[in-house]
Amino acid sequence: MGVVVASLWTLAGFAWNGALSAAPQQPVRYAPPAVEIDTGVDLDLAEVAVEVDWMVNDPRGWRVDLDQFTLRIVEPGIGGTTSMDSKGHIGMAYDAEDLALITEEAWTVLGPRFAAVGGTLQDQRTWIVLHELGHLLGHPHVDCPAAGQMAPVMRGANFELGDCTYNVWPHPMS
Ligand SMILES: [Zn+2]
Repeated sequence: MGVVVASLWTLAGFAWNGALSAAPQQPVRYAPPAVEIDTGVDLDLAEVAVEVDWMVNDPRGWRVDLDQFTLRIVEPGIGGTTSMDSKGHIGMAYDAEDLALITEEAWTVLGPRFAAVGGTLQDQRTWIVLHELGHLLGHPHVDCPAAGQMAPVMRGANFELGDCTYNVWPHPMS
């Protein structure tokens, strides 16, 4: 459960003003997963953790606490991951271990397939992290629900938009 920081304040505002719309919106904090940098990966743990925290707390994210999970950045080839050019897995999710693996390459190099559908490196990071965490939350792969809708974050591969429009978030603003 997310921690609603100022629910009492909001209730007070409701009573005071007599209108819910007058109550200021208070941000909900969601706990991020534990972030780890595997041996041989040259990334700054604090910098990665800050970015993961941003993804988890963005209103377009999963909107749940994720601190029961671990997110580990690994070299391609570790734990079933592959390099980007081998049409494989830049991320993997291990339900039994509550563990998501993301390759260092996925974090540092914008892949050609992602770039081809209009993505940025930031998008690529966001998609792969929230996609793999989505698997740990129990979400399977889904196809594009209808032409013109935003592509679900749980699509099978970043470049398979079908007839959907580009998106990397679980709850994109429409
Ligand atoms: Zn997947």
